[in-house]
Amino acid sequence: MTEQRAVPTGVGRTALGVAAARARESLRSDRLFEDPLAAAFLAAAGWPGPEQRPAAPTGDPALGESMFHHLVIRTRFFDDRLLAAAADGCLQVVLTAAGLDTRAFRLPWPDGTALYEIDFPGMLDFKERVLAEQQARPLCRRTVLPADLREDWGGRLVAAGFDPGARTVWLAEGLLIYLSPSETAGLLTEVGALSAPGSRLFFTHPVPDSTVVREVRTTPSMSGLATLWQGGLDEDPSDWLARHGWQSERQDRAALAASYGRPGGSGSRGGFHSAVRLPG
Ligand code: SAM
Repeated sequence: MTEQRAVPTGVGRTALGVAAARARESLRSDRLFEDPLAAAFLAAAGWPGPEQRPAAPTGDPALGESMFHHLVIRTRFFDDRLLAAAADGCLQVVLTAAGLDTRAFRLPWPDGTALYEIDFPGMLDFKERVLAEQQARPLCRRTVLPADLREDWGGRLVAAGFDPGARTVWLAEGLLIYLSPSETAGLLTEVGALSAPGSRLFFTHPVPDSTVVREVRTTPSMSGLATLWQGGLDEDPSDWLARHGWQSERQDRAALAASYGRPGGSGSRGGFHSAVRLPG
């Protein structure tokens, strides 16, 4: 008898959308990364594989392509940044809202890397079952922490072995758009409190008037996704970070896409944020 496995719902479905893009990218001869587990997550959820299905569940092919390239570019960008931070001595890695991220299994982490994944319990339960079925082996010390990032999670991270005195690299990829301004500020404040000087923080943040955000909001088949969006901070993240002990920069998405030889939308202001924790 097949064991019943709960499939992520609500905002958890967005992690399957990201896995769909990663599975599709993994089939390309010019792929920017390879994520073999992504297809296994799709199969376990009963979603069509990358051969049968476009990257995003949208009736608008151009928007689907645009979202696919966005997800691929940001995956590769954060792969590179996380590994560079680890090579530079940030040997604690925290993936907030890890979803179906498989970086623990596919990136060549330095010896001594301790990686933490935080997401809702249902998401991590689904993920762990699929990983066990695939006999996946992490390439670092991996700890999963089921938690709602809108609530108190820092103490539990420390109880799970995280050392706030050691330099850390944090990732919030595809998360902040699903949090309200106060929830986002609360999360980033907690990250700051747990960050030793020299720690790094990488995240995506929506640009309210960007082409993709506007198109998703006005495409009927995307209304389910748009209703989940809470917007993240209600100010430029660079301003918030500067007031809260971080030195930050924003990588322009269009320029990055061009550097990878992928379409990224002309004039795109959407960016990926990087920050370093300042002393004191
Ligand atoms: N970061 C992953 C990646 O890029 O593959 C997943 C991104 S997915 C678009 C969004 C993720 O945020 C989902 O896995 C969802 O469960 C998680 N999430 C959203 N709100 C959350 C919250 N309040 N606490 C924990 N996880 C949350």
